[in-house]
Amino acid sequence: MSTDTPLMTALTFDRLREDWHCSTGLIKEKVPRPVLTDNDRDSVIIRVQYAGFCGSDRGIWWRKAFGDMILDSLDDSQTDKRIVGHELLGEVVELGADVTRVRVGDRVSAESHIVCGMCLQCLNGELHVCANDKIIGISHDGCFAEYIKLPAKCLWPTNLDKIRPEIAAIQEPFGNAVHACQATDLRGKPVVVIGCGTIGLFVILIARALGASMVIGVEVDPHHAELAKQLGCDAVLKPSMPSSDAPYASDPTLIAQIQELTDGLGVDVAFEMVGHNSALNNAIKSVRRGGHVVMFGVRNGNVIIEDYHRVVMNGLHMHGVVGRRIFDTWETTRALLENQDNGIQEAIFNIILAGGTEPIVHINDWNKDEFEGIIQRYPKPIIQFAEQ
Ligand SMILES: [Zn+2]
Ligand SMILES: [Zn+2]
Repeated sequence: MSTDTPLMTALTFDRLREDWHCSTGLIKEKVPRPVLTDNDRDSVIIRVQYAGFCGSDRGIWWRKAFGDMILDSLDDSQTDKRIVGHELLGEVVELGADVTRVRVGDRVSAESHIVCGMCLQCLNGELHVCANDKIIGISHDGCFAEYIKLPAKCLWPTNLDKIRPEIAAIQEPFGNAVHACQATDLRGKPVVVIGCGTIGLFVILIARALGASMVIGVEVDPHHAELAKQLGCDAVLKPSMPSSDAPYASDPTLIAQIQELTDGLGVDVAFEMVGHNSALNNAIKSVRRGGHVVMFGVRNGNVIIEDYHRVVMNGLHMHGVVGRRIFDTWETTRALLENQDNGIQEAIFNIILAGGTEPIVHINDWNKDEFEGIIQRYPKPIIQFAEQ
């Protein structure tokens, strides 16, 4: 690094300073500002205003997920630190020579999956399952920084007259929930959301706005159960913990409660947002014959499906959901957020973001210990990097 390289503040995982396996958190440090080189004709530099802290960033914080992907990508690029973060709102400040999609001064969010455009899926328009995708903040430097360099094809211009900037910064995770809700038609149908974490909370708002007739939440944590209620769930149920000799098992009491709320039929759609084996069985058992199970929760390893014949003989539809359809999910996301009648922006800001108070942290005030408390107390912390 030459002495006149401009520096910026960023939050990183730095393998020269910390061993992945015996550390936690992120390091706040000065790193070189990204610059456009001759190879970046299709990229832009964005000045970050707000960045959302994702569940996957919690996985990195506690070293529970993405370690192999980060370390392998550092090996590939022969570097030692990764700037984390992939949910952002910022301002385009510099353009590569070939960029025509956006202009300097545009306010943009970004799709976090950088797709190749060349593989079978990309050529068939299924860009969200690109065979060669890179993920911002994991295999490409991320947005927990004052500036980020991104390919222009990832950008999503956003009208801040219609979407407030803190919420514009979390269109990407909101879009995950929109994508889950696009798996099947929800109009006029009772649904259950199993797991009211951040994305589950978004699903509650979106399912309601897209016309679901009843939204039932299932949540263990009392704080999240309360948030689910405030966001308009018709009922919030608490599952019992599965016994240790059958940790995969569904909860018969919970299933009976869901049946009772739906005239003995079961719901049309169950969203599995947890990734626990028992939650998947609860989802499968809570849907009516011919119903849909939308699987969003992630876990590694094997699962046991109870009464597997039921999946086939009841003609259930199973949907795995990843990322967002590029960019049609973003268009629906924009329509839902820009609509001033559905109350979604107010609900996100007042309830999920706690009115913009403690969960929004300015980078100048950021320190590891305090932020560690905030990521445990709030579903969607946001880091502010610039005033506007
Ligand atoms: Zn995310
Ligand atoms: Zn591809």
